[in-house]
Parts: sequence; structure tokens; C-alpha cells
Amino acid sequence: MPQPSTSPILLWFRKDLRLADNLALASAVDSGRPVVAVYIREPEDAGTGPLGAAQSWWLHHSLSALSAALSGVGSRLTLASGDAGVVLHRLIAQTAATAVYWNRRYDPAGIAIDSALKASLVAKDIEVRSFAGQLLHEPSRLKTKTGGPYRVYTPFWRAIEAAGDPHEPFDAPSKIAAPCSWSESETLETWKLLPTRPNWAQEFSGLWVPGEVGALARLNAFVDGALDGYKAGRDLPAKPATAMLSAHLAMGEIAPARVWHAVRGLTETVDAADSIHFRKELVWRDFCYHLLYHSPNLSSANWNPRFDTFAWRDDPDGFRRWTKGQTGYPIVDAGMRQLWRHGIMHNRVRMIAASFLIKHLLIDWRQGERWFRDTLVDADPASNSANWQWVAGSGADASPFFRIFNPLLQGEKFDPEGAYVRKFVPELEKLDATYIHRPFDAPESVLSAAGITLGSTYPRPIVDLGFGRDRALAAFKALPARG
Ligand SMILES: Cc1cc2nc3c(=O)[nH]c(=O)nc-3n(C[C@H](O)[C@H](O)[C@H](O)COP(=O)(O)OP(=O)(O)OC[C@H]3O[C@@H](n4cnc5c(N)ncnc54)[C@H](O)[C@@H]3O)c2cc1C
Repeated sequence: MPQPSTSPILLWFRKDLRLADNLALASAVDSGRPVVAVYIREPEDAGTGPLGAAQSWWLHHSLSALSAALSGVGSRLTLASGDAGVVLHRLIAQTAATAVYWNRRYDPAGIAIDSALKASLVAKDIEVRSFAGQLLHEPSRLKTKTGGPYRVYTPFWRAIEAAGDPHEPFDAPSKIAAPCSWSESETLETWKLLPTRPNWAQEFSGLWVPGEVGALARLNAFVDGALDGYKAGRDLPAKPATAMLSAHLAMGEIAPARVWHAVRGLTETVDAADSIHFRKELVWRDFCYHLLYHSPNLSSANWNPRFDTFAWRDDPDGFRRWTKGQTGYPIVDAGMRQLWRHGIMHNRVRMIAASFLIKHLLIDWRQGERWFRDTLVDADPASNSANWQWVAGSGADASPFFRIFNPLLQGEKFDPEGAYVRKFVPELEKLDATYIHRPFDAPESVLSAAGITLGSTYPRPIVDLGFGRDRALAAFKALPARG
């Protein structure tokens, strides 16, 4: 039996699939003790999943990248499936580890699992150390003057600013001490995370490089390029003007602290307005986690109970046509098809598509949230729920319900030439900018010159915008004044 000082530390990777800026890993390596790195595929009913299909694709490649990175520094990644407690106790027995280190997670199910696990490990004399995880600041640390949680974004942003910069970035370890023997590992292939028939993810690999190397490359490209002009460009879906970091952040392949520092330091080369605006967006992510931390049912219950009696419609056909990008509103359809083909959707278009589902179709925001969770590579329990609720008007600091995005005006304002629509709705490619967002207004001669037959090559609108808007406002007015 090894002495405690030389016995291995189990390093449990979760949403922190990186070697740099990894506080738990750095502390384990600094101890000089051998490290056994493990990733556990927890059961779906444990409450932390299920992982959506698009993110399963991502996880496969991210774990493969992490495994290669660990091999490069003399270590290995052990893969195991099952209840985390059962797996960790088994690995402790197999490796004679006397400590388990992890970076904290902040979703309610994860917190519950970790707290119970910590107690059971400590009861067996196993040292458990947890470290700050996937956020800029710990959600429990930020409190209003009266000691409660924040409900409004702007004071939250001010609190983050007042809290000071997050920890400085630091490099990956150059060597990780190996244990005397390795525990058995499952293989990624047996986890079957990749789609096969049909392989709907075939375009993903041309766009994404999951893993820490891909994440850093995205950050560097953004800082050297689109960050300059971010504030103005970020709303234009045809322009590559945003960081495209959300999926990497969702899996913890890059620390938000590193992203923060990379942007914050650029006072001479980048306009302060761009730098601040970008950091404010990054802080929305922390704000969403703050909300989830304090409202654990954020993905299933209205944050504002006033919406609990809202008269949502049951409309399976409308929902199906929305998911397929067949609503007859080009900007909505382009967004939904981008989501299916690339696993991502531009933020402005997410707002338009979500608003269309919730308000013009009057379909419960939870249905949209679930679809996004399954199809987004950046699906995140906090950001997805909080943003859906924000659009619905039931969330914290939400857009008022009566603010209903008009998909025609939004399209014309943010995709004026129709380049985004043309990319994802190729059947409208030949339509000129005047009608690209409203093909149903185009004269027959224009449609036929563009090769379009409404109702055949491209759908007619599934709902009249004026009718949908009035119906939504009537349903909203029927709500009680307070929950
Ligand atoms: C209905 C809806 C659902 C959404 N679901 C998710 C989700 O599941 N996962 C997710 O990461 N984002 C979600 N968002 C927020 C936002 O659309 C994405 O974070 C953003 O599009 C990612 O692209 P980017 O990395 O290029 O963003 P950038 O504009 O470059 O922003 C940088 C980072 O800031 C954070 N960020 C930006 N906007 C937001 C926001 N509104 N809320 C929270 N964080 C933000 C992200 O981490 C992002 O990577 C959702 C938005 C809406 C309207």
C-alpha cells in the first residue's frame, strides 16, 4: 500500500476538458503525487443529462482531444460509465488513490451529486478537494447589498467588475506523474456518441475543432480579428463577427478567465467599446449560472410564476415545421437550418426564432428549449434556459412579453442583403434583396424568375404575423397581474 504522500490523486474531469487553467489539475500536479485522470459518463437519469445529440458528437471529439493531450504529458484518460460514486469508489480500490480532486459544477443536479459524494468519500477517509470551475466568479460569492441573489443584469455586471479580474491564465503542466499501474478504461467507440445512420453531423467537422487546441485557436483568431468591431458586427448573422467560443466554453475546453484576460488587456489595439461589450456578453453567461444556481428549476419552471397559467397552444405541426425550418419566414427558417446543419445559430437569429415559436405560434418555451438542447453544440443548462425564459418574458430581467420580434423587419435590419438567408435557404438564393425576407409579397413574375413556387419549392407562411401577434398579446393580457 503506497504511503499517503505518494498515493495517487483521482482527477475527475467534468465540464473542464482542458489542461491549461485547470485549478484542480494544477493542484494535483503541484502535489508531486501520481494523477489518475478520469471522465465518467454518468447515467442520464442522474439529473445532469441527458446530453443532446449535437453535444454528444462534440463530447466524443473533445474527450479524444483531451486523451491525446494527456498522453503528451505522460498521462492517460480513464473512461468509465455509471453512477459517479460507484465508479470513484471502484477506482479508489483499484489504484489505491487517497484523494479525489475536481473543479466545481454549478447545475443543481451536479451540485447535489457532488455534495453527497463528498460526504461518502470523506467518510472513507478520502481527501476531497474542489476548485472554482467553469465561471468567472463563484455564483455563491456574488450577493446584492441585502444579501440576496441578483435578478437584474446591470447590477450583476457592476458586481463582477467590482469583484476584480478572475484568476490569471496559466499553462498546462508539462509532465504529469503516472501511477504504478493504470486502471482499466472503456473506449470512446463503445459509448456510441457519434451519429451513424443518418450522419446528420457531416458538416460539423468542417466548422468545429472540439478540444483545447481548437478553443485556443478560436480565441486567438477572434482577438486578432473580429473583436475589432464586435459591438457593431455581432448582430449581423451573415458576418463572422463573434467569437464562436460558446461550445468550447460549455465543455470547459477554455477557461472564461483566459477569454476575459485575452480581451481585457487589449486597450491599445482594440476600441474600448468593443472590449467592454464583449466582456459584458461573457458575463451574461455567469449571470445565467447565477440564476440557475438560485433557481434550480430554471429549465422546467417559469422563473416568474406569473406565467404559470399562460395559455400555451398544443401545435405539433407548427412545432415540427419550426424545427425543420419550414415556417415560410426566411430568417426563422435560415436559423433553424443553420442549427441543424452546423449545431449552432447566431444569437440575433436565436432571439428571432425563439420569439416566433413562443409568440407567433404560442408554443411553450420549454419545447423550444428542449429542441435547442438536443441540437446545439453549445447547449448549456444555464444559458439555454435563461435565454429562452428571457425571450418568453417569464425570465429574470426579461424582454417584456409585448415586445414581439417581427421576423420580416428583423431580417431586413440585420440581414439586409439576405446573404444569411441565401446561405441556409438555398431555394431562395435567386430572389433579390427586396423580397428575400418576404417572398410571399413578391409578384409572380419575380418568383418564377427566381425559380420559386410558393407552397411547393418554399412554404407559404404558417401563420399571419398580425394574427399571431394579436393572439399572443390577448393571451398575455389574460394573465394575472402578479404570480
Ligand atoms: C433562445 C436562446 C438560447 C440560447 N442558448 C444558449 C446555450 O444553450 N448555450 C450558450 O452558450 N448560449 C446560448 N445562448 C446565448 C448566445 O446565443 C450564445 O452564447 C452565442 O450565440 C454564442 O456565440 P459566440 O460564442 O460567437 O458569442 P459571442 O457573441 O462571441 O459572445 C462570447 C461569449 O459570451 C457568452 N454569451 C454571449 N451571449 C450570451 C447570452 N445571451 N447568454 C449567455 N451567454 C452569452 C457565450 O459564452 C459566448 O461564447 C442562447 C441565446 C438564445 C436567445
